[in-house]
Amino acid sequence: MEIIIGKTAGFCYGVKRAVEGSIEQIENSKNENIYCLGELVHNKQVIMKLQDKGINFIDNLKQIKVKNAKVIIRAHGITKEEYKFAKDNNINIEDYTCPNVSKVHEIVNEYAKKGYYILLCGKKTHPENIGTASYCGKYFSVIENEEEIKNVIENIKKINSNKILIVAQTTYSLNKFKIIQEKIIENMDKNVEIVIKDTICRATKIRQEETEELSKKVDYMIIIGGKNSSNTNKLYEIAKNNCKNTILVETEQEIQKDEIHKYNLVGIMAGASTPKDVINDVVKKLEKQECMSSF
Ligand code: SF4
Repeated sequence: MEIIIGKTAGFCYGVKRAVEGSIEQIENSKNENIYCLGELVHNKQVIMKLQDKGINFIDNLKQIKVKNAKVIIRAHGITKEEYKFAKDNNINIEDYTCPNVSKVHEIVNEYAKKGYYILLCGKKTHPENIGTASYCGKYFSVIENEEEIKNVIENIKKINSNKILIVAQTTYSLNKFKIIQEKIIENMDKNVEIVIKDTICRATKIRQEETEELSKKVDYMIIIGGKNSSNTNKLYEIAKNNCKNTILVETEQEIQKDEIHKYNLVGIMAGASTPKDVINDVVKKLEKQECMSSF
């Protein structure tokens, strides 16, 4: 049996910057209370490590009751209102919002001011989209898939908007984004101006493309990452489409050794929030099962 590890598996630039920056903050802290608003990354192992180092995870800035507080902002970013709350309450911010996410905020803000209806493709409950939505002005919709297009088109017609901007969550699926664009163009009146800004980040694109290729050539595919991680779940969907023997695991403990033996070529890919040591633990577990080579 051979295993092929995807070259793009593991932390992306934005997550690496946020995790390393947070560790630095805690190491250099001078008796400050360090908080992180929401999960820094969607990965339980990383969160537990940071908790052990002393970072307090909170869901709402109102939970901070001490004076010398510093709040770490995760790569997904926060809402406009949360920045204002922090400023009004003298809460220090260490901002690790990924520059790619900040770019989406700038784009939607600019187009909302110009009167465009913003159509944001992505998961409604994802923190990144909650943050982005706060910059979208009054007229916008967040849509998760093509089934919701009909309702959105009705909404746009109701408010008589003749300008639409279509953007995506930075980790949205490339295929789904294309389908939504095509359906909107097909179903909107011809006099409506449609501007499309491809805001899916490069790291996500390359990882999805590699997963697509890798899952076509292996006979077993392991996707490693948080089960609550949007980008990891997308990798799982892509791989499963090409390789029916695809599993999604958070750690090596979920690997069934009896299952692995049946396959000759195993592919490994990991989400943007999956640390290298979690990937290495999976590889080590596979290597223990039998002699194999890995690339
Ligand atoms: S996936 Fe892309 S946008 Fe998200 S944190 Fe990583 S580099 Fe930034």
